[in-house]
Amino acid sequence: MRYEDWHTHNSLCKHAIGTIEDYIKEAVKLNLNVIGISDHFPYEYLVSELPTLDQIPYEEYAMPLYDLDKYMFQLEELREKYSDQIHVRFAFEIDYFKHQDYMLNKYLKKYIDKLDYILGSVHVLFGKAGTFAFDDGRFLNKYREYSVNDEIYIEFYNSLQDMIKSPTFELDIVTHFDLPKKFDKRVEDHDTVMEKVIETLELVKKNDLMIEINTSGLRKKAKEQYPSEEIIRKMYELDIPILLGSDAHHPKEVAYKFKEITKLLKTIGYNQLAHYEKRKRSYIDF
Ligand SMILES: [Zn+2]
Ligand SMILES: [Zn+2]
Repeated sequence: MRYEDWHTHNSLCKHAIGTIEDYIKEAVKLNLNVIGISDHFPYEYLVSELPTLDQIPYEEYAMPLYDLDKYMFQLEELREKYSDQIHVRFAFEIDYFKHQDYMLNKYLKKYIDKLDYILGSVHVLFGKAGTFAFDDGRFLNKYREYSVNDEIYIEFYNSLQDMIKSPTFELDIVTHFDLPKKFDKRVEDHDTVMEKVIETLELVKKNDLMIEINTSGLRKKAKEQYPSEEIIRKMYELDIPILLGSDAHHPKEVAYKFKEITKLLKTIGYNQLAHYEKRKRSYIDF
């Protein structure tokens, strides 16, 4: 089968290496069927509403607003240029912030009709340790403000649930479903956190959303894809659709470990992967 990578970044977001075209070229070289370009949607318009965001270097987390037009223009050009070699799909990875959908949609409105799908993410917590990006290694000291790691997981799943339940936040795919394990800060009371995980999975199902199998965790200290095999097995039981994302921040990471991961998914029982065009989901066998 020809793989499809639905989660990639590029230099516009200021923390990834390579142009959009570099990622497309790599995907062509790997004979992928689809490359989804899904760079981080801007943050800076939120600061007036959420002043504590000033405590994180948000300008290094996403493209600035003034690059949105450039992003879309480049995507259209490149889709055309490579149309006989690969399907280029347009997306954003959008961070969810409570009560900010109105602001977000004001800026998203202009682009939403051009998108093939939207990744919905939580990278920032507003909890016990204040405002911090829990997946940014520069904030590792914040973990010490929690008595157990589980508290971070619970805050994370509460935010994911808010995101999933929000009637005004547009998304198709929930990303890196157990991201707090990135630095190998593992759950202590397994059953309590797992209860929260299952509650969140049930919400995903109820809202007809899906979850990406994100291989970037294999490159991190956690040494494991997001989510864990245990969670993927629960997803399978609940019949939650999936697709693959490398979360590449370097062209060499495109389709990272897709062969190994599809093998695992088959063992679990999955035999279909989702596919998007203009925010319509279909399925391909694998
Ligand atoms: Zn990123
Ligand atoms: Zn990403």
